[in-house]
Amino acid sequence: MSWFRRRKSLAERLTGTWRCATCDELHVGLMALAAFAPNPWPHAEEREPNGAIRLDGDFLSEDFCVLGGEHFLVRAVLEIPVHGLSEKFGFGCWSTLSRENFDKYLEGFDDGAYPDWGPWTGWLCNTLETYIGTEPQSVYVYPQPDRQRPTLRIMDETHPLAIDQEEGITIDRLIEILRFYGHAPTE
Ligand SMILES: [Zn+2]
Repeated sequence: MSWFRRRKSLAERLTGTWRCATCDELHVGLMALAAFAPNPWPHAEEREPNGAIRLDGDFLSEDFCVLGGEHFLVRAVLEIPVHGLSEKFGFGCWSTLSRENFDKYLEGFDDGAYPDWGPWTGWLCNTLETYIGTEPQSVYVYPQPDRQRPTLRIMDETHPLAIDQEEGITIDRLIEILRFYGHAPTE
């Protein structure tokens, strides 16, 4: 198969339904990676319902996290365009917000309309190989309409991930990232 045909069929496969060569599950559509909790979460991977939110102590749900009653985090998505695909690759991860913006997020969460549309700012609290290590990374947080998760953009324009968010990545690079996390289409 020619290089171009191989690229094209990989792109088609990655956005269709594909059997993963490593985890052996069927993945449907462009796969997103997701971090269950922010890295500093000190407890087991268990979530409470969003509606049970508590602002003191530690709390984790699908969309909100509170650490020690003083750090407030939201589940967001960091998107990277992929050359040749209309859909962006998404990394589900956690960002801090100021208490003020966290309150705004809670207030607008149910109807997906916020008093202001940011961008807010925060710290990305997950690692992403090979882009983000344990060094805290500042991000812009863009609240989204219609109950979609906020999107993140790396603030430092010279950071490799900021550049890839701007310019996009190749299919091969995407496969490299997926493979790192234990998912890969068969060649
Ligand atoms: Zn897999």
